Amino acid sequence: MTGLACALALQNAGYRVVVVEKSRGVGGRVATRHLPLSLVDHGAPTVERALYDESPYGAYIAALVEQGIVQPWSGNQIYDAYLSQGRWSLALMQSSGAAQYYAASEGITAIAKELAQSLPIELTQRVTGLHLDSNIWQITTEDKAFQAKAVVVAIPAPQALDLCIPLVQDGLSAAVISVLQNVQFDPCITAIAGYAPSVPWQNLPWAELRCHNDPIIARVICDRRKREMPTGPCFAIHSTPVFVMEHFEAADLSAVGQQMLDHIAQVYAPWFAQPELVQVHRWRYAIATNGYPGHPLSAQLSQPLWICGEWCVGSTIQNAFEVGLEVAQQLKQQLLDCSR
Ligand SMILES: Cc1cc2nc3c(=O)[nH]c(=O)nc-3n(C[C@H](O)[C@H](O)[C@H](O)COP(=O)(O)OP(=O)(O)OC[C@H]3O[C@@H](n4cnc5c(N)ncnc54)[C@H](O)[C@@H]3O)c2cc1C
Repeated sequence: MTGLACALALQNAGYRVVVVEKSRGVGGRVATRHLPLSLVDHGAPTVERALYDESPYGAYIAALVEQGIVQPWSGNQIYDAYLSQGRWSLALMQSSGAAQYYAASEGITAIAKELAQSLPIELTQRVTGLHLDSNIWQITTEDKAFQAKAVVVAIPAPQALDLCIPLVQDGLSAAVISVLQNVQFDPCITAIAGYAPSVPWQNLPWAELRCHNDPIIARVICDRRKREMPTGPCFAIHSTPVFVMEHFEAADLSAVGQQMLDHIAQVYAPWFAQPELVQVHRWRYAIATNGYPGHPLSAQLSQPLWICGEWCVGSTIQNAFEVGLEVAQQLKQQLLDCSR
């Protein structure tokens, strides 16, 4: 989202941009998995917008609502879960009423596709090298090379670090490396579980559960409540970071997913242990937790290089979008100054 918001703002200002993306589609952690006959958002499940937010982010979400891409995800369907004496007890989440959550019926990646639709995007191109040659950035992927006057690296800080360390030879300051090293992320394992239509999912009072003191489960999202599907319910179940530490490298990921479901069956509803389908996704860098530098990082080399992501200021989609716009703004000024 950071990279797309930035690229779109630059393109709208008249610059020629290319987005180089390692995956088969856009969105990154704003991710939707296509299953037989259904969809599940296995990264960020929803987007949030403060009421009366007139900022560019507020306008972007309002436009998504107007186009029918996102729909209000009713606050009264979000419950808190507390583990007490081996069972979850549920309580309606106390919301301040100052923000609204939105879900996407066609999958949350639709909000990234909306930003990406007019952008030139090179998919399945993992950037493996970045260096300056005669004041031109040389960007290499496994099978292509690109040249640019300016580069924006909009990926999680630990991944940016791998690309930036070789630039120390070109004069990148140790201070930038040290800032990148300080940013920390929680990992997450998402279990995607699909059930037969006969399970009593319609009796669940919630669309999303947020667990507060559970050792294994952090969130359970009923994706079936986001969209009509000719199938039974499908859930995205996020693990706690502590659970990930023990299981991230597990050879049998389905067994890890089943362990998460067995736990829910034990503390909440037995039918969770018997899915028709289980898939598991590992997020090594899911949620930025601390070490935010407070602003996007400029490399201060002979040609502009910005290193950024939501982790510059926080951990949300809104942070990502706003950091992307801020980098676009600063880069425009830098390019104007360079051309004088
Ligand atoms: C499980 C989970 C739950 C979340 N819940 C919420 C939530 O409820 N609300 C919320 O606001 N946020 C949530 N988030 C966080 C939110 O998804 C992120 O803050 C936001 O998507 C970050 O966007 P980004 O563009 O900065 O980074 P990313 O989404 O990580 O995008 C980086 C992009 O760069 C690509 N890339 C990486 N390395 C390379 C390379 N070398 N070459 C080319 N391309 C590369 C990646 O494929 C990706 O597309 C959640 C995230 C996860 C994983």
